[in-house]
Amino acid sequence: MLPITTFLFPSCPDLLLEEITCEGQTLFLKVRSSKKAVACSLCEKVAVKVHSRYTRTLADLSLLEYAVVLRVQVRRFFCSNPTCARTTFAEPFADLAVAHARRTSRQASRLSAIAKELGGRPAARESKNVQMPVSVHTLLRLLRRSPVPDAPPPRVLGVDDWSIRKGQTYGTILVDLQRHRIVELLPDREAETLEAWLAAHPGVELISRDRAGAYAQGARKGAPQAQQVTDRFHLLLNLRDALKRLFERKHEVLQEEADQHHEFLTSSEEVDTPDKAAPIPAPLTPTALQQQARRARRLSRYEAVMHLHQQGASQVAIAALVGLNRDTVRRYLTASGFPEISRPGKRSHLDPYKDYLQQRWAEGERKVKRLLVELRERGYRQGETIVYEYLRTLRQQPEGVSASEMRKNAAVRSATQTALSAREAAWLFVCNPQKLRIAQAVRLDHLRVTHEDLGLAYQLAQDFRVMVTKRQVHVLGRWLEKAKASDIKELQSLATGIYRDFDAVRAALATEYSNGQTEGKVNKLKCIKRQMYGRANFDLLRQRMLLCG
Ligand SMILES: [Zn+2]
Repeated sequence: MLPITTFLFPSCPDLLLEEITCEGQTLFLKVRSSKKAVACSLCEKVAVKVHSRYTRTLADLSLLEYAVVLRVQVRRFFCSNPTCARTTFAEPFADLAVAHARRTSRQASRLSAIAKELGGRPAARESKNVQMPVSVHTLLRLLRRSPVPDAPPPRVLGVDDWSIRKGQTYGTILVDLQRHRIVELLPDREAETLEAWLAAHPGVELISRDRAGAYAQGARKGAPQAQQVTDRFHLLLNLRDALKRLFERKHEVLQEEADQHHEFLTSSEEVDTPDKAAPIPAPLTPTALQQQARRARRLSRYEAVMHLHQQGASQVAIAALVGLNRDTVRRYLTASGFPEISRPGKRSHLDPYKDYLQQRWAEGERKVKRLLVELRERGYRQGETIVYEYLRTLRQQPEGVSASEMRKNAAVRSATQTALSAREAAWLFVCNPQKLRIAQAVRLDHLRVTHEDLGLAYQLAQDFRVMVTKRQVHVLGRWLEKAKASDIKELQSLATGIYRDFDAVRAALATEYSNGQTEGKVNKLKCIKRQMYGRANFDLLRQRMLLCG
């Protein structure tokens, strides 16, 4: 059978267990060393003569449901070396705890593992649950001291910035893109800092970075041998920024689009309200909104077709510019006016129950499950989704308004439309159009169809997006020429920037590596930063990120 000391202290073969006592939820283990002789901590000469004894208390790993405290009998020895500066010394118990520590090494490493996973306060709560209660401060101190594992030098490095304090100070995150590990956090985003790190860590063969000049410069000087690769996601961000500047310059276009949208919604309500007898239109359901949006999109295409036709464009050219097939173009041109799609007045199965739902809602019932049961009792036999959707429209109403007021509000709200911000409009241009909601697509179409230069900007933006996401390196030269020739100064300057960084951008379209991972790590960093409740000073955050990877 395994002796109990070997079982309890596998790494301390010389320890003797003398006594176990229990007080409340704590076990006290009285232990001492079985060694007869101990080497002096200064001169290392073996000493045998005991000067005195005292007890050292160490918190240890908990056992079963008990907290465990070691009462270690420590001997103080006379040094046997007459020339030694130390007359007496205490035996060290290095296998158990570091000098002057109040806990065993194994408890310290368990606690810092908890702190690594959970961060400050949650870890402190967890430490109580596992019978090793410590304060947040202690945990953070332990975390700061835990050794960071050695890692082989990275060959493929992702570099990105992250905000230490939002919008004020920035740091740099370095990720080993092959091993999927964080390699280092640097306290700023200066070229010199990256350069110094790269110089101290040779062997990097490929550096994926954004287009910020500082990283390019730092990488060039610190690792001249490495292939630099512009990060593809950042290329799209560069495009977004260029478009944002374009829309800032042409901000009146955005207001005009909003006004048009407003007119459309208010006028179409007069025509489209299904129940003319009702003085106030019912709140628009998401389906109705989608129908409206689809109609608006068709209408704006129709108008674009007519406009181009008046300017003398051929049917083929119109079809290509507006993105319709030629039959549709021909049909539009031969029709006497905008061809409405007539649908039978589509009514929701929920319509007969809406008054009841509004009434219950006004009474304060908010439990969807409960309302569903009540609807079922009243004969509603259809799906739950439309009920959820309808309740969501009710939820968006301010509290304490009557049903009729709610209807009025809904009508007013659907008819007003705030102008897109330059940033929002830029995103609409960069996005994959298939991922847009219909309402967004309507607004996008209005912008690109009614303004020739925006139409061109849109075409260039989409070509760029496809080129970057599909890594069409052979298209790059042609795209740059088109942008240069476009007369859109924001896109011209994007092209100039890319020419300046041409090798790295071309490499971005030719290699598989992407900083997507680095972005992921930045998100993890943000998450950990939030968990640390503002205690996250740089060292600590760095420690936790390197430990967690
Ligand atoms: Zn000595």
